[in-house]
Amino acid sequence: MSDTIMRPSPISATVDFEADGVQHGFLRLPYSRDDSAWGSVMIPVTVMKNGRGPTALLTGGNHGDEYEGPIALFDLARTLRAEEVKGRVIIVPAMNYPAFLSQTRTSPIDKGNMNRSFPGRPDGTVTQKIADYFQRILLPLADIVLDFHSGGRTLDFLPFCAAHILPDKKQEAKGFEFVQAFGAPYSMKMLEIDAVGMYDTAAEEMGKIFITTELGGGGTATAKSAAIAKRGVMNVLTHAGIVEGVVDEQPTQWLDMPDGDCFLFAEDAGLVEFAVDLGGAVRKGEVVARIHPVGRTGGLPVELCSKMTGILAARHFPGLIKPGDCAAVLAV
Ligand SMILES: [Zn+2]
Repeated sequence: MSDTIMRPSPISATVDFEADGVQHGFLRLPYSRDDSAWGSVMIPVTVMKNGRGPTALLTGGNHGDEYEGPIALFDLARTLRAEEVKGRVIIVPAMNYPAFLSQTRTSPIDKGNMNRSFPGRPDGTVTQKIADYFQRILLPLADIVLDFHSGGRTLDFLPFCAAHILPDKKQEAKGFEFVQAFGAPYSMKMLEIDAVGMYDTAAEEMGKIFITTELGGGGTATAKSAAIAKRGVMNVLTHAGIVEGVVDEQPTQWLDMPDGDCFLFAEDAGLVEFAVDLGGAVRKGEVVARIHPVGRTGGLPVELCSKMTGILAARHFPGLIKPGDCAAVLAV
């Protein structure tokens, strides 16, 4: 093995993951820079442990402009008590903390997209170092991993909890049980466009139960989406047997992303007008959105038509769109 793989993480935790009780602390990552020669990135972390039991690793802010996860997890870290826990809960409300502070998807330091940085590197960029810490220190501690996402500034989603189709059908079934327990209005059997380097993939390859969410978007959270996140995380802890009680069961509609036809990408730049809103039904061949050219008046819009029959599960959020942007995602 190369020494890169054996090198210890530069991150040190100010909490002891093996100690009983509640600890609020930091994952401290040395980061020498102009405004702080011997400075560090201080990523908030809470660990709650009470005796034996499974470990849940709960993360938000994997992308810095998605807010339901951080809202639910800062809240949970403040309110959950060690006596209510059987096992361990590790909470990192803002995984890519520099990105979270700058309200951007990727890190302002190295432009690192946390969810494309796994397995990371102990001698890499700031984002790669954080990924490496999760890969080698935190993920191995976990039995169940919940990673909150939303659409961020450029996408908007129907609120759903999701797990992936996996080669190990037992692992897959457990994931879908947790998705059902989470109780978002929609539950998704999720297909990834680009699974390489994802936190999801890293956790799943270790055999962990991994669930994720897309709870809204547009670079903010609503009262409704924040409430879904807060209820969902408690339901996951309850279903895992870490918190005592019964799951607050919610009606959920299961959705499937059967193949690549569910994605519609823009090939033109312009002003985007959706013909259907999130949750609306679309038949194969129907117009999902029109892209109006904006260089001059009098031009014809380009129509983006659905390649399948389903409902609109996600859409481009800003008013203008450019070639290569994901315009819409359909689900059945
Ligand atoms: Zn995200």
